[in-house]
Amino acid sequence: MSTSTYEQLCRHVRQTAVFATIESLLYWDERCMMPPHGGAFRAEQASLLSGLIHERQTDPRLGEWLSELAASPLAADPHSDSGTTIRQIKRLYDKKTRLPRELVEELTRAAVLGQQAWQVARRDDDFASFAPHLERIFRLKREQAQALGYPQTPYDALLDDFEPGELTSHVAGVLGRLRDSLVPLVAAIADSPRRPSVEVLHRHYPLEAQERFGRHVAACIGFDFSRGRLDVTAHPFCSGIGPQDCRITTRYDEHYFNSAFFGILHEAGHGIYDQGLRAEMFGLPPGEAVSMGIHESQSRLWENLVGRSLAFWRHFYPQAQREFPAALGDVPLEAFYAAINDVRPSLIRVEADEATYNLHILVRFELELDLLQDRLRVADLPGAWREKYLSYLGIMPPDDRQGVLQDIHWSGGLVGYFPTYSLGNLYAAQLYAQADQDLGGLAAQLERGEFAPLRTWLREKIHSAGQCYTAAELAERVTGRPLSHEPLILHLRAKFAPLYGLD
Ligand code: ZN
Repeated sequence: MSTSTYEQLCRHVRQTAVFATIESLLYWDERCMMPPHGGAFRAEQASLLSGLIHERQTDPRLGEWLSELAASPLAADPHSDSGTTIRQIKRLYDKKTRLPRELVEELTRAAVLGQQAWQVARRDDDFASFAPHLERIFRLKREQAQALGYPQTPYDALLDDFEPGELTSHVAGVLGRLRDSLVPLVAAIADSPRRPSVEVLHRHYPLEAQERFGRHVAACIGFDFSRGRLDVTAHPFCSGIGPQDCRITTRYDEHYFNSAFFGILHEAGHGIYDQGLRAEMFGLPPGEAVSMGIHESQSRLWENLVGRSLAFWRHFYPQAQREFPAALGDVPLEAFYAAINDVRPSLIRVEADEATYNLHILVRFELELDLLQDRLRVADLPGAWREKYLSYLGIMPPDDRQGVLQDIHWSGGLVGYFPTYSLGNLYAAQLYAQADQDLGGLAAQLERGEFAPLRTWLREKIHSAGQCYTAAELAERVTGRPLSHEPLILHLRAKFAPLYGLD
């Protein structure tokens, strides 16, 4: 009896996942292909689908099946495929059914209006006009947290949407220790008299050569183009359309090498994760990505740990010089390597380098936590933002456009999302250090252009695990220790001390 109930449950959930892939395909098309006037009808298509998906996710039959299965032997081992499936479907079902419909609708409305207001406010550098929207969004987020319930603090409930099972206290601890080590490191780099010349990155890089080279490198590290595509969008993303169809995008700037190239590596890293999930488990929790932080760890591992390493460029630089003879023909490898690893405190998160990036996240994480807990008033947010930039990065934005108004997240109701970027960097460094140990020295392999061992290691340890463990459990199982700030700090020190002459 319980086997057939389990099969019904799986069939229902898998079909919901198929609807979700149609939603992803519509979204991809909207960003890559849709003609300008297609928007209104596309909105109709998208809202019909999302309503349908929501109905399926809160279908009362799910509740019945789940309570029938609670005592089943299939649920006995929470980390087995069936145990994971039952546990995770229950988790999502409970979350979806706990939120009152009016609150969901109000949140959706507040997000749409908030984003519109944010666009105008950013353009006009007018925080005051955006403040009432932000107040409303944080009030609704507090209500959301109350409706969902939480183990320790309201922020836990919001964080759980992006890092299932993660606790605010744990994240605050790890990120706090990261901040305490990072602030002095970044200050020492900023004070160093050594400054790499980044002029070489702004020479002319013809678009076709960039595309050819980017595709080539993405394929070399293991993005499978027979099950994936690369297209152009203003804001790059990676979208899994199905088990054999993963699409990544990038943008090209003929006068800035990093933009497309590292964007492609980043999205290819996301894509390699999606392509490494167990296809036969598609749509079910054991075949789905575990968290935003782990997803981001995969993109950042390929982009930064691999893609900005000297070993990687010892392999690819001669090819880059052949693709871009006018730009790179006279540039020694060491100068190019220093340029792509330029570190300097800056105001804009999305343009930040590998070392300073996490300080941008810390500012946002600490402020959204204070806002949610009513320790900070929205009216005081711009000032608090400037103070934190000054104390963590040593610089202060001259206006709110380059300060608190730069990101879209809060305006769209994304609270609890920012820390996943830094968790991604931390997981990436810790996993890379473990792979380096397990595989007997990655640098030599990268230098020979051998990426399969690292990719296979990630597939076996991380991708194929799906949601059988939480992100924190998975990292601890694979690396033998809980998530720590130390591997990232060790990596940054080892890399930047010689580049900037630090002791
Ligand atoms: Zn990413």
